Amino acid sequence: MNTLPLTLEDASLSYRDGDIVNFAVKNVALTLTPGQVYGIMGPSGSGKSSLLYLLSGLKPVSGGAARYGESAYSSLPEARRLTLRRQKFGFVFQQPFLLNYLTALENILIAAETPNGSAKQIAVERMAEMGLGGKENRFPGQLSGGERQRVAVVRALMNDPEVLFADEPTAALDRTNGRNVIEALCQWRGKGSVVIVTHDPVMVEGADAVAVLRDGRLAGFGPPAEVLSLLEH
Ligand code: ADP
Ligand code: MG
Repeated sequence: MNTLPLTLEDASLSYRDGDIVNFAVKNVALTLTPGQVYGIMGPSGSGKSSLLYLLSGLKPVSGGAARYGESAYSSLPEARRLTLRRQKFGFVFQQPFLLNYLTALENILIAAETPNGSAKQIAVERMAEMGLGGKENRFPGQLSGGERQRVAVVRALMNDPEVLFADEPTAALDRTNGRNVIEALCQWRGKGSVVIVTHDPVMVEGADAVAVLRDGRLAGFGPPAEVLSLLEH
């Protein structure tokens, strides 16, 4: 495993609306150590996606700093940030965004740096590990919602990301399919870090630590058993 800590130092993300400045993330300090599974929780609009954008360098901080290892994203040229994200990070979103005219396997291989025979072999193995064995040649329309999302997880893993980011990956699924997707994501624990945004506490029960957000601020950060109770207030 060759992964680095993700750090937010007093990080904020604000949006300007005329004269009014709204903070989506406000003064958050957070360190995510390599190889662990993290949850980001909070009600709708509490800043979960915004926090993920800061952690992954998808959006620049309005204040404070966001780093991967030593380098603050803001100190890197845009081209470097882009390569960093492409080579070291994997992303899964609420929708799987598969191409309907390609098979599951072809969708996955799109993300492979060099789509050769060994990439294909790895893809097939990972599909099997995620309960997609035998579904390689199905088209997205021939898969269930949960299966499609697991295809998206395998695709996100094709370049062996150091960090796997997932924003509400189970929001469009029922609990059973949701759990399968979470299980698939958690298989990356130890190979890289996994950061999962969700509003369903059940989905992060197996996380090493959960960050709870409220109105853009960090209300708590720690093992699920200790911080999930913060959500009920
Ligand atoms: P969550 O993912 O927890 O639902 P978000 O991070 O998407 O929350 O949003 C946090 C806050 O920032 C919300 O109040 C939202 O309305 C606001 N926000 C998000 N994106 C924008 C934007 N592009 N322009 C203005 N406000 C935004
Ligand atoms: Mg969101």
